[in-house]
Amino acid sequence: MNLFKKILIANRGEIAVRIIRACKELGIKTVAVFSDIEKDSLHVRLADESICIGPASSKHSYLNIPAILTAAEVTDAEAIHPGYGFLSENPQFAEACATSGITFIGPTSENIRIGGDKAKARQVLKRRGVPVVPGSDGPVASEEIALKTAKKIGFPVIIKASAGGGGRGMRIVREEGELSQAFHTAQRESLAAFGNSEVYVEKYLSSIRHIEVQIISDGKGNIVHLGERDCSVQRRHQKLIEEAPSPISTEKFRKRIGELAVKAAKAMKYQNVGTIEFIVDQDQNIYFMEVNTRVQVEHAITEELTGIDIIKEQIRIAAGFPLSYRQNQIKPSGHVIECRINAEDPERFIPSPGKLTFFSPSGGPGVRVDTAAYAGWVVPSQYDSMIAKLIVHGRNREEAIAKMKRALDEFIIEGIKTTIPFHKKVLNHPDFIKGNFNTDFIEKMNVRTNGNNNGNGNGHKNGNKLSEATAGVDEA
Ligand code: ADP
Repeated sequence: MNLFKKILIANRGEIAVRIIRACKELGIKTVAVFSDIEKDSLHVRLADESICIGPASSKHSYLNIPAILTAAEVTDAEAIHPGYGFLSENPQFAEACATSGITFIGPTSENIRIGGDKAKARQVLKRRGVPVVPGSDGPVASEEIALKTAKKIGFPVIIKASAGGGGRGMRIVREEGELSQAFHTAQRESLAAFGNSEVYVEKYLSSIRHIEVQIISDGKGNIVHLGERDCSVQRRHQKLIEEAPSPISTEKFRKRIGELAVKAAKAMKYQNVGTIEFIVDQDQNIYFMEVNTRVQVEHAITEELTGIDIIKEQIRIAAGFPLSYRQNQIKPSGHVIECRINAEDPERFIPSPGKLTFFSPSGGPGVRVDTAAYAGWVVPSQYDSMIAKLIVHGRNREEAIAKMKRALDEFIIEGIKTTIPFHKKVLNHPDFIKGNFNTDFIEKMNVRTNGNNNGNGNGHKNGNKLSEATAGVDEA
């Protein structure tokens, strides 16, 4: 068995650079693809070869399946790594790669199909004994059925798009009178964003944490989990800061949530790298929420915690190699925190694209910066606004926080606005320092510090950041 000689990376930005780095260390040649406004991008410079695949609009470039497959064919790339967002969770793309004799570096198209149908994934896992958030048994076809389900499980409920991602197509319903409108809005939003109006109903749980588990499966019966990540610091259901381990975690908790994640992966016959997302309530009850069938933005914190290069494992497994370690060989060490640095106004979270007149990332012991940004680069308005991931690794949480504060102070970006001031505020917040926060932490913090929450309990309404899950969806 051999590793690939050449891989095409069907992505851009920091994740394309991250994949190129893994390939270089494995001795694999790389092909970058780019839209015509990105010829000066770092991923293009760092790859061995590069090909323009279309105009700026991602629909015509990074989502253009025929152009990407043609680029792979003319460059003799044997495999394609999709990164996150764009085509990474598109089962047709995975199948089109196979038809063209190109290896898709990721899960099977069947895995992607189940993961992309959140109502179905719930059903499948519930049947296999994985606890899910109480709610509808599959999709709900009408407002009447949604109401019946809501009455059965009790308000508040959340109506969610089966095909949802990036916090879109979700509506919280606090009482019966709000249900009809919320149901139709969620359907409409889902149809517009994902081309599918199917929704389902879940109990809306309060005071919860978002805790997820990284899993790796070689498809030959070997599955391991790499521990949990706490992604509860969110704004409008989108992650801003992640950390590992979770501040609430104990050996026992990690074992329990890890075993549930492995059980879920086995039930799905999962192959390659994936994340099982859970909601954890105050009594530490764990409920399955969804599975992400791609490498995630926050994979890097698990890499730092465990010393395992997740991208290299993805490539090795796709090439047919078995997992190189067992569960008892995975030893998390210390504490890792990640801040997502977005080209956004830190107060209103609206995009702030433009030219970086100065760019000096933080460094020093225990600091990792994953970015494709450099001084002089123009942050495009067409794509995800995340321009860097600042990751710190300390011996314990206290040291990690001190390092992150130091690294945030040191990071200099000029020419655009970024979320660095927001992160500084969070890192200095007494509840964050105590590890005492839930998914509503940012909304509550904004209410306390700004004296308003825009009236909708949801923070500001007009931010249009694209998340990793929807990075490929053009904002229309
Ligand atoms: P997406 O795929 O759009 O990111 P998720 O299902 O992962 O959607 O949910 C995103 C976030 O929304 C969660 O991290 C959590 O904060 C919140 N959320 C989702 N479902 C519930 C629920 N049943 N109760 C409370 N909060 C929820």
